[in-house]
Amino acid sequence: MSGTAGQVIRCKAAVAWEAGKPLVIEEVEVAPPQAMEVRLKILFTSLCHTDVYFWEAKGQTPLFPRIFGHEAGGIVESVGEGVTDLQPGDHVLPVFTGECKDCRHCKSEESNMCDLLRINTDRGVMLNDNKSRFSINGKPIYHFVGTSTFSEYTVVHVGCVAKINPAAPLDKVCVLSCGISTGLGATLNVARPWKGSSVAIFGLGAVGLAMSSTAGQVIRCKAAVAWEAGKPLVIEEVEVAPPQVMEVRLKILFTSLCHTDVYFWEAKGQTPLFPRIFGHEAGGIVESVGEGVTDLQPGDHVLPVFTGECKECRHCKSEESNMCDLLRINTDRGVMLSDNKSRFSINGKPIYHFVGTSTFSEYTVVHVGCVAKINPAAPLDKVCVLSCGISTGLGATLNVAKPWKGSSVAIFGLGAVGLAAAEGARIAGASRIIGIDLNPKRFNDAKKFGVTEFVNPKDHDKPVQEVIAEMTDGGVDRSVECTGNVNAMISAFECVHDGWGVAVLVGVPNKDDSFKTHPVNLLNERTLKGTFFGNYKPRSDLPSVVEKYMNKELELEKFITHEVPFAEINKAFEYMLSGDGLRCIIRMNA
Ligand code: NAD
Ligand code: ZN
Repeated sequence: MSGTAGQVIRCKAAVAWEAGKPLVIEEVEVAPPQAMEVRLKILFTSLCHTDVYFWEAKGQTPLFPRIFGHEAGGIVESVGEGVTDLQPGDHVLPVFTGECKDCRHCKSEESNMCDLLRINTDRGVMLNDNKSRFSINGKPIYHFVGTSTFSEYTVVHVGCVAKINPAAPLDKVCVLSCGISTGLGATLNVARPWKGSSVAIFGLGAVGLAMSSTAGQVIRCKAAVAWEAGKPLVIEEVEVAPPQVMEVRLKILFTSLCHTDVYFWEAKGQTPLFPRIFGHEAGGIVESVGEGVTDLQPGDHVLPVFTGECKECRHCKSEESNMCDLLRINTDRGVMLSDNKSRFSINGKPIYHFVGTSTFSEYTVVHVGCVAKINPAAPLDKVCVLSCGISTGLGATLNVAKPWKGSSVAIFGLGAVGLAAAEGARIAGASRIIGIDLNPKRFNDAKKFGVTEFVNPKDHDKPVQEVIAEMTDGGVDRSVECTGNVNAMISAFECVHDGWGVAVLVGVPNKDDSFKTHPVNLLNERTLKGTFFGNYKPRSDLPSVVEKYMNKELELEKFITHEVPFAEINKAFEYMLSGDGLRCIIRMNA
């Protein structure tokens, strides 16, 4: 949100030029907030009949051009002089009628008809200077009931803004800023029916009530618990303890399944650690922060990451490493660093964490160093896949293999990670991208990712590295292995050209795996490297990978082949095991 405070913002708004005529999306200028005003970024708005009445202007004072809209949810972008109880980043609902907190009405227990800020449908300007904050080429556009939410940015009086729980989904609670609260309150506060006469409305009110402050308290929520290796996850009610020193508690909105979850859930050749909550590819919102956390606050949009960045150690200070001494990936530890305990429990019995993220839960606790704060405008149901697989593959190519324009690249394993590696090769300008996979179903998808040729090792009697050497006059310039299979690792190394070839390993092997190759393959000036998370530092680098998606340099939609509600999380495992999809998004709120 930084950078725009104090400046005019140019953004899109739906302008009503004339009564009853369709709104026109225009580029407008939105002036900075003045004394006791705040400028909001509107994320969601809805249409209430009051907008329609004044737009029709039948029997109403017509005031055009005007920006309608008053039922909305957004985030504070900047605040004007004298505003002390709101700050940039706060989640808010603008309201058409205000509360100065000083007048007789505000002090009365019975009235909400604030002397200063009560609804005024005829005034199209701000109170402070009787001017509009909206303009098009300097020509003013009128406000509507002090809110004008049919604009990407708007300016409102601080008294017309309700700060709300940042964990509340704005696409739902925005309707509370007018219609739903109005109806609910009319019944509960004014009509006051007795018990039994309005049960349905009481239930509706719970939407708002359920969102009340949870900071510092144990949260009870749903999580998908793996009780035993290889057995379907079970949705259980778990307790999630508050975050401790340098920890944050996140509300997970979307998570997806990566093969690394599946490996450790199968626990074949891995240390089994059960009961456990898996999941590490996800997007969410900070619910509360523990002691010592200064760079994150409730409401921040974040991606949790399985490998962290303390920003202090030699690795974090090195330009080359992302293997943080404190927070590097640890698949055997099922507890938090600060006290070697789990934050999850069921009736007091601890449930283990997985790689410090455990995102198959509506709420989770993670170390602050494993959280990347991202652009809040980025859709979490898409960018969640950047918190592991896609960034891993992309970075393995762009940051580690570094193919050049016109070079040849072999990609072993055409799952989401491998296809992201292929995407990196395409972005780098590689002219031949050879995809290798045992599953022929993958070849169709791979075309969309710029893979130019395919090899299925099962179609050949000789080792696949020999097949590739023949195809490429001695070997490819670069290879990236994204299978986790040791045979594919050897092939990926031995298929690069001598003299300059570089092979990069990404797949996670079994615990006791090893491979052998003749040392002369290395002497012949081939390089073998490996990387976690594509060599990206999660906190420093991930926000800019998210921007690649926002700028349309990187397409994420094509990686997302399935979507399931949280209750059906086991289906995501089926898709992964049958090789039928790339990434399956799991919607926590569905
Ligand atoms: P995926 O299961 O969707 O894809 C793996 C693909 O490899 C499949 O299409 C499979 O058919 C193919 N494959 C398996 N064995 C092969 C072989 N011998 N030769 C050719 N192809 C073979 O998995 P994914 O989510 O894309 O993950 C890929 C790998 O990357 C996994 O090992 C995962 O654990 C690992 N991973 C590593 C990191 C890291 O930071 N290093 C991060 C994420 C994932
Ligand atoms: Zn992963």
